[in-house]
Amino acid sequence: MSKSLFVESTKHLKKAVPLMMKYQVPTTPTNYALWYSYVTGEVPELTAELDNVLSHHDILPPIQAQSLYRNFVADKLESSTWEMRHNIEAMLLDLTQSLKDTHVDTSNFQSSLDKTFSELENVNSEGSSVEEVMNLIRKLVGGSKAIRHSTQFFSSSLNNAQQEIESLKSQLAQSQRLALYDSLTGLLNRHSFDAELTALLEADNQGLCLILADIDHFKSFNDEYGHLLGDQVLKAVGRRFLDASRDGASAYRFGGEEFAILIPKSGLRKARQYAETLRKLIDKLSLRDKRTMKPIDSVSASFGVSEFVNGDSLTSFIARADENLYKAKELGRNIVIPR
Ligand code: GH3
Ligand code: MG
Ligand code: MG
Repeated sequence: MSKSLFVESTKHLKKAVPLMMKYQVPTTPTNYALWYSYVTGEVPELTAELDNVLSHHDILPPIQAQSLYRNFVADKLESSTWEMRHNIEAMLLDLTQSLKDTHVDTSNFQSSLDKTFSELENVNSEGSSVEEVMNLIRKLVGGSKAIRHSTQFFSSSLNNAQQEIESLKSQLAQSQRLALYDSLTGLLNRHSFDAELTALLEADNQGLCLILADIDHFKSFNDEYGHLLGDQVLKAVGRRFLDASRDGASAYRFGGEEFAILIPKSGLRKARQYAETLRKLIDKLSLRDKRTMKPIDSVSASFGVSEFVNGDSLTSFIARADENLYKAKELGRNIVIPR
């Protein structure tokens, strides 16, 4: 992150945090994002709306905060929210370091005081009257008691701040985790897929392959067994894809009942064999309806595979896998195309 960005975000944060205190807003990442956007003034509609709410309330009610976040921040600023998370993280790192440094300084100061103490205790009273030395000692003792007290206090408040920062950092890590993974299946989500594919295309697209998989007749499955059981199927399928990941392949939940697997440095032949393995795994899946204990028959998926070729764009690469998936459906499902 550039220095000026850092300075800029520190400036906004210094404005946002006192406002959050004033309106008794809990310091969650979402709220940070909301108030951060507010003080930057990047979204005039948000500024107007929030000003309006605040003119009627002494605090910002959580429900209002949530709807403001959803309406003005979540979509429009998704990318800059990410940037902000990074900025906050960098700032926290910085702060942690300076707190640690100060901590060392105060401890050093304390030990140098301790040293002076013991030197004074050994002072050779030659040339000075006992009275004079005693006065000096009294002064020093008095002064350093005060300093000791304040450094101890300072150290303990630094400790508290450090703990606060640690907990903020783990909250951040948690919200970043949520942003990368799909909550139902635990697989990486579509956002991660886009990011990873973009990176792979820039770095090393030689032999890069994509498998798209779509569960067959899933709508009628839901109609017959219910959405909850449908969710269990998605979980089980996701689990198989994850377990079968190998050779640097990574599995994603691409959308509803669609999955994607990216395989770097592969080739169409290898990739379609891999897809064939996955197809059989799903076909063999044996599930039971827990309510009725009846076995559930026939869960299957269709697969489309593509290999990245010269002149491909991200879109054409995905579209080719998608067209193959469509053919697999047309040809009767539960197959891999190309054959
Ligand atoms: P096809 O074999 O042609 O793919 O038929 P299909 O019924 O699977 O395809 P369609 O696209 O018509 O329907 C997809 C269904 O997937 C509809 C939707 O209810 C279901 N679905 C999508 N996401 C979820 C989810 O998170 N949970 C559950 N239970 N069902 C989902
Ligand atoms: Mg589908
Ligand atoms: Mg389907």
